[in-house]
Amino acid sequence: MQRIYLDANATTPLLPEVFEAMRPFYLEHYGNASSIHQQGQQARAAVDHARDAIARMLHCRPAEVVFTSGGTESDNLALFGVLAPGDHMITSTIEHHAVLHAAHSLESRGVEVTFLPVTAQGIVEPTALLAALKPNTKLVSIMYANNETGAVQPIDALAGIAHAGGALFHTDAVQAGGKLPLDVSPHGLLKDVDLLTLSGHKIFAPKGTGILYVRRNVRLAPMFHGGAHERQRRAGTENVPGIVGLGKAVEVAAEWLKTDGPAKLTGLRDRLEKGILTAVDETGVNGEGAPRVANTTSIHFDHVEAEALLIALDLKGISVSGGSACQSGASEPSHVLTAMGLSAARARATIRFSLSKLTTEAEIDEALRVIPEAVAHLRELSPTYKKAESAVAK
Ligand code: PLP
Repeated sequence: MQRIYLDANATTPLLPEVFEAMRPFYLEHYGNASSIHQQGQQARAAVDHARDAIARMLHCRPAEVVFTSGGTESDNLALFGVLAPGDHMITSTIEHHAVLHAAHSLESRGVEVTFLPVTAQGIVEPTALLAALKPNTKLVSIMYANNETGAVQPIDALAGIAHAGGALFHTDAVQAGGKLPLDVSPHGLLKDVDLLTLSGHKIFAPKGTGILYVRRNVRLAPMFHGGAHERQRRAGTENVPGIVGLGKAVEVAAEWLKTDGPAKLTGLRDRLEKGILTAVDETGVNGEGAPRVANTTSIHFDHVEAEALLIALDLKGISVSGGSACQSGASEPSHVLTAMGLSAARARATIRFSLSKLTTEAEIDEALRVIPEAVAHLRELSPTYKKAESAVAK
């Protein structure tokens, strides 16, 4: 059975061209990029090539790109690298745990943290940030696109406010990577962003690869102590094949963004969303009306346990996620959805569908055939769901 993968916010497959770009750096060009001999120089050239490609995509200098092991490390490096006891940091209640838990850890080390609330659409309001700034606010960290709802934050306004207040601005752009243009140059939307996180495995590059963009004048204390790699910002022998794959994936993503691909992806997502809302009653889009990335929709199916629906769809060959994949196994309702004001029951009845540029129309048609059936079956077992017809019959 050909599976239908609608969980691209959890991870994406390697693109064949990314894999092919990486292959020689496992088998032939396996040198250490710090070695002086030819094999080392080959590896160094490949790392530099990838760094240049990423700098072109971000509109920054190559020296401002730091390679890491992924989104989690980049987020931690941004926060721990900048903050010290006595500083104040502002973040939001809908961040990924890579930021939220890092912030809690910093709190226990004497950093004061303010967690901003969000609107019912899952948006951080610039006025809320303005009101929370203090003279000792050192860093503001607000994600670009939310992993559960896809909601896009007003990053330009938020970063501008942070700068005007004398604070640095970090954005976790893991879920914006490959979906929105990212321009940190003085002419770009992200001109006031000082630190920006990206993860390879969300953009068809290998797992265990990531980027932290660090603006030139930002002083960043390293988390790892060792060699002088990455201009003393991230010690450890470079993951050369991973970095090569990341560079290739970024080039492919930048080209795709210039095509009609994003519009087509939005069309497919909207078709899935409208198809579900039309075919299944007592459903709704969480955070409806918010600006969103093209691929994501978060839908609640009232009177259904998302976990049961997820398993039912899995058995039919469809991969989706309930809330965030990073929390699987936890029975707590999603912190993102509850921060938006959803009841715990509704949060637990929510499925996240995240498409990718590999998703086809035929897959969406098949999903639209399977999902209503699966929901109807589960609702037959639900004690709280009363069908309209049976209410009329009584
Ligand atoms: N930030 C966001 C918004 C994410 O969605 C994720 C992964 O789900 C991460 C950070 C963590 O990235 P990684 O899996 O590369 O550590």
